[in-house]
Amino acid sequence: MPRIYLSPPDISARDHASVDAVLSSNWVAPVGPALDAFETLVAQRAERSHAVALNSGTAALHLALQVLGIGPGDAVACPTLTFAASANPICYLGAEPVFIDSEPRTWNMDPELLRQALQERNDLKAVIVVHLYGQCAEMDAILQFCEEFGLPLIEDAAEALGARYRGRPAGSMGALSFFSFNGNKIITTSGGGMLLSNDAAAIERARYLATQAREPTRHYEHKAIGYNYRMSNVLAGLGQSQMTDLDRRIIARRAHFEAYRDALSDLPGIEFMPIAEPDAPNYWLSCMTLHPDESACSRDDLIEALEAVDIEARPLWKPLHLQPIFQKCALYGGPVAETLFDSGLCLPSGSSLSGDERARVIDTIQACIQDATT
Ligand SMILES: *Cc1c(COP(=O)(O)O)cnc(C)c1O
Repeated sequence: MPRIYLSPPDISARDHASVDAVLSSNWVAPVGPALDAFETLVAQRAERSHAVALNSGTAALHLALQVLGIGPGDAVACPTLTFAASANPICYLGAEPVFIDSEPRTWNMDPELLRQALQERNDLKAVIVVHLYGQCAEMDAILQFCEEFGLPLIEDAAEALGARYRGRPAGSMGALSFFSFNGNKIITTSGGGMLLSNDAAAIERARYLATQAREPTRHYEHKAIGYNYRMSNVLAGLGQSQMTDLDRRIIARRAHFEAYRDALSDLPGIEFMPIAEPDAPNYWLSCMTLHPDESACSRDDLIEALEAVDIEARPLWKPLHLQPIFQKCALYGGPVAETLFDSGLCLPSGSSLSGDERARVIDTIQACIQDATT
């Protein structure tokens, strides 16, 4: 039986045709009609007026911080329970991350701890919020506190394309927002990202920096240090056709989450990621915790039992304040993210995962917990 992966790319015949068509058009550099069309599709979905397609989500965050003028001596608030790419670009610019713990309701940045950081630190110049595993953070409170303290908010919506928060799309709420189209995300361009905003000048500046900061002259003229961060038009062709499949993918991933929860949540010690509004997440990954005092089977036993039958499962993101490289950074709270990391895992959630494969995952987990209990 083939290995079951956590979140593999899902590539259709239509994707092949779309990439073929771009290759035949000879628009293979980071400029062309597929790029324009892909930017328009994603911007419409996120209800944004401006977008620039880039070669990664990390590049998008780097440019977002740069456009906001973040530099040495500045601090930027960021959740601790996230992927390192949510914080690394702060350091590229010589600024300092200030980590904020999760709240238990959505596992995202705790607004009250953010408020405390905003009150205590006048070096904070921006806030990055992450919509973890495809569920939006408590945006009303976070937006309110950012406004109160006059700080711009960047939405790291890398995992949350297609998710909604009280009717608003993920990626529509911060001053700037970005998505990732890395191979493991809900849609992919192999690698890629997009920065979005309603501020035309901010996206114009990001587009300029992303294309080597070339001045509009006949010769090559430079007044700023630029980057080579644009997405290839070939990959935008892939993104265009992947976008047309986004809604099916959300439905498929949601079905996985619900099947896992229905089959497993009665087992001792198991709890699924709380969903604040069932219609809203994109269900990028199905995540659960296994309480160590309630089950004889530990989280690591469970991951090993799955691995033994060639099923990939992983712990939740390791909190950034526990990462060796970020140990000296400031932290507000911490125990919520630490407990989630100690007890949590992500289950296979891909949009190409079949019902039979999902049943194999469920059977393995049931057997592991029941064997440990009896
Ligand atoms: C994937 C991811 C990123 C980075 O995106 P890349 O396209 O891989 O650079 C940033 N933040 C979060 C939360 C992610 O999951």
